[in-house]
Amino acid sequence: MRVVVTGGAGFLGSHLAASLCRRGDQVICVDNFSTGRRENIEPLLGDPSFTLIEADVTEGLDVPGPVDAVAHLASPASPPDYHRLPLETLAVGSRGTEYGLRLAARHRARFVLASTSEVYGDPVVHPQREEYWGNVNPVGPRSVYDEAKRYAEAVTMAYKRSYDLNAGIVRIFNTYGPRMRPQDGRVVTSFITQALVGDPLTIYGDGEQTRSFCYVDDLIAGIVAMIDSDVTGPINLGNPVEWTVARLAEEILRITGSPSVIENHPLPTDDPTRRRPDITLARQLLGWEPVVPVEEGLRRTIDWFRSRPEELLAAAPA
Ligand code: NAD
Ligand code: UDP
Repeated sequence: MRVVVTGGAGFLGSHLAASLCRRGDQVICVDNFSTGRRENIEPLLGDPSFTLIEADVTEGLDVPGPVDAVAHLASPASPPDYHRLPLETLAVGSRGTEYGLRLAARHRARFVLASTSEVYGDPVVHPQREEYWGNVNPVGPRSVYDEAKRYAEAVTMAYKRSYDLNAGIVRIFNTYGPRMRPQDGRVVTSFITQALVGDPLTIYGDGEQTRSFCYVDDLIAGIVAMIDSDVTGPINLGNPVEWTVARLAEEILRITGSPSVIENHPLPTDDPTRRRPDITLARQLLGWEPVVPVEEGLRRTIDWFRSRPEELLAAAPA
């Protein structure tokens, strides 16, 4: 297959690109490096099955040659990133998604949208099933991300209905692993970086809010299964094992053996209080479920961060 991966230099996109190249697909990565990093795709740059196009997908999306699938992952994903890039986040979720859909429609290609558990907002239904419509504040600070993704889902379904496009939507829950930026502000990277440099672990609120953390290799297997299928979804992809943020902090302190203390900070506005995917549909329709336990995934991620002391030092306070 020839697969276009937008956001292919990001955390998930670069793992997806590597996975597709490994199995013999051709990958065209389109990225503007707004939150991605060249080093994420460095190992692929010499690979004849990998092509990099440095471009902003909100300005159009065209690639030379045939296209069998478009995986649209381009979008800031960490809260500090989308707070810093609010208009860019709305643009890539709306215009960027439409350009991806048009490219897929022109080639009669499969289209897969990387949506998010954030479409459920602060959920009143728990765990979250795909039929739940969500509880999102449309004007709060998180809305630039949540509503962009909700629009992206709507426009994907409109293209499917209008042009009979073979389109599918995955709703990705919190995913972690190697290649995350130490200072991307997400909780796993923040805690690991803080633990390794001996800084206090910054728990927002009382730490009783929950998330369900999926290891990156598992998540990528789910996206690949979705690309290979004709399933429309939306399909939840995530680890149904739910942890409090306080438990995550304790586990990271235990694995790293860090002497860091815990420091409580105010909870950000509209921070969801709980989140856990119901993955019945992914099991039934994609034959997919995560296999890496959180403790093991954290160990692998911590080892990866440990192997890059120069980045950790850059993250440490002067
Ligand atoms: P990331 O920030 O590491 O990667 C996003 C990539 O998109 C970056 O390489 C960035 O440079 C690129 N990009 C952003 N705007 C662009 C534009 N206009 N044109 C071209 N490229 C652009 O984030 P990630 O964690 O890898 O997330 C990838 C996708 O998965 C996002 O769509 C995100 O919403 C979704 N997602 C991720 C998670 C998670 O836990 N990682 C959870 C839910 C959904
Ligand atoms: N969080 C935290 N300390 C941090 C970063 C995040 O306690 O240094 C909390 C955050 O308030 C949220 C949870 O951890 O309740 C997950 O945050 P993240 O930004 O990783 O993902 P999201 O909120 O998008 O699920």
